[in-house]
Amino acid sequence: MPASQIDGIPRAFATAVSQLNPRQESYVPELTALILTQARRYRASDVHLNPCETELQMQWRIDGVLCSVMGFDRELSSRITARLKVISGLLTYRTDVPQEGRVAREHSSSEVRVTTFPSLYGEKVAIRLFAEQDQLQMLDQLGLPGMVEVGLRTHLEATSGVILLTGPSGSGKTTTAYACLRDVRDRSSGTRCLMTLEDPIESAIAGVIQSQVKPAAGFSLTTGLRSLMRQDPDVILVGEIRDPETAEAAFQAALTGHLVVTTFHAGSAVEALTRLMEMQLEPYLIRSALRAVFCQRLLRRSCVSCSSKSLESAKSRNSADKNPAHASLSALCPVCSGTGYAGRLVLAELLEPEHPELVQGLLSRADARRMSALAEATGMVTLSQVAANAVAEGQTTQEEVLRVLGGRRS
Ligand SMILES: [Zn+2]
Repeated sequence: MPASQIDGIPRAFATAVSQLNPRQESYVPELTALILTQARRYRASDVHLNPCETELQMQWRIDGVLCSVMGFDRELSSRITARLKVISGLLTYRTDVPQEGRVAREHSSSEVRVTTFPSLYGEKVAIRLFAEQDQLQMLDQLGLPGMVEVGLRTHLEATSGVILLTGPSGSGKTTTAYACLRDVRDRSSGTRCLMTLEDPIESAIAGVIQSQVKPAAGFSLTTGLRSLMRQDPDVILVGEIRDPETAEAAFQAALTGHLVVTTFHAGSAVEALTRLMEMQLEPYLIRSALRAVFCQRLLRRSCVSCSSKSLESAKSRNSADKNPAHASLSALCPVCSGTGYAGRLVLAELLEPEHPELVQGLLSRADARRMSALAEATGMVTLSQVAANAVAEGQTTQEEVLRVLGGRRS
């Protein structure tokens, strides 16, 4: 995805940087702390520091879209990278291997992960800023389409079966998985044992026993699931199904009286079904154990304070590079920094494979096109239909739908 240039944020960040004194000893630590606090302030989920031939380019991912914020010169770039490695407990003298760490609590009150990756002009650093604890959500706070939320909640009351939460990476499926667990926890008020197997644990949930797998030590999702069965759990969250062995183990667990909630990488609910089939999972196993397939996408929500002018601001944004004087900071909408978007909109669909037509399609190994037609015939409201409604209601734009869903038909 090409980096988009958002006018207001780079200027605001440059202004904040200009208030630091480069001659002071504490300049680099202060600059690094400023990067983290400002990125969070502008709701960035990730910070990328990309070493190029002449500089270290910094981009922030905001509402799913990369935005170029600033370039740091070569001399400064290695010091910023070194500082980030120090505060996240990484080896500063190792620049030739990928490293992963988390920023120590004295430098950030909320979870921040730092990963480094050697590249041609030095280490690329990616920083993931996790949501603050108080922003973590319950199922009814996710903004799911009403029928999908009701459907999901009903399936969460079941005592066995698999609920697949799908979507591409960055679509918010882990947030939904955690919200599902909190929902089960609150509604069962301690009468169901909730356990997780995750890689990694993204945030702590009270009342749930969470475990981080360690594949190098032989504690993988698959082996972990087998041992976990002996812990007498009722509801199990399996972080993500990435291979046939984990899929098989999760579905077997569901057949033996456990509710298994798991995430799975797929572009649509139907694609998730066909991908399970491609993993050589037996159709009968899918049919007997699978309760529901949920799929979601995150879109940028049109900024309410300037949505009527968003088209105009998009035009001025395109010409801003040629004429920087044109984009004066004061003229930009304070809510969305002139992007026309503020906040996220969740699109979701819920496929319930119990319908006889779908089961028949599954057993006869129907192709994706046929399965899509069958899913729609059962009354599933597809992501595209939800998106079209959202555009009609002015919640987002057609461009945004195209960016996220592409030109897909269903
Ligand atoms: Zn706005």
